[in-house]
Amino acid sequence: MSLKKKPVVRKTPIKSKALKKKGSSGRSSDLSSGRSSSHSSKRSVWDKAPDFVEGCKFCRKIRENEIVYESEHIVVVMGRQHHKGHLVVATRKHVENMFDLPEKALDSFVNDTIKIIRALDKVLKPATTNLEYLDNWDFHVHWNIYPRFKSDPDYGNPPIIPPKGVKFKEKKMTKKEMAAFMKEIEKIKAMW
Ligand SMILES: [Zn+2]
Repeated sequence: MSLKKKPVVRKTPIKSKALKKKGSSGRSSDLSSGRSSSHSSKRSVWDKAPDFVEGCKFCRKIRENEIVYESEHIVVVMGRQHHKGHLVVATRKHVENMFDLPEKALDSFVNDTIKIIRALDKVLKPATTNLEYLDNWDFHVHWNIYPRFKSDPDYGNPPIIPPKGVKFKEKKMTKKEMAAFMKEIEKIKAMW
């Protein structure tokens, strides 16, 4: 399958550099508080990243404030609702590749996602949750949270995503569930 590539601002092969660095320097020190030269080069991609790109649906949602939760580095927006509770965690800035995120943004991308999943879990009580990072459709770093229910027709498989433009039956959270979810988010925010 060949996919249309959007022009990328990245100029250096950061991805391979970063992977090399990880292998040589050891993971734990990097994750605690370590900063290295590779981090600063990653940060610069973030620093240079635009806040808005025309035609990007996540940039548009952020600009139009269609946000469920936000922090310094990430925003959470509603997904397409082909699965109940489908949420999308996206970076606040328009960066195209997860490997280009500076450490703080990556931490937030991962850790805040887990907190959102916990909040969803409390309210919807799914059997499990799927996290999906595709990077071949909307070129703005994001991943999808899918609470999975045994009653899903595609349970036990990756969530079936209706192609763009195809009509499907939405499975929206009820107002009550949404209110309970927002309440959980508030509780979790206090511990953030
Ligand atoms: Zn964008």
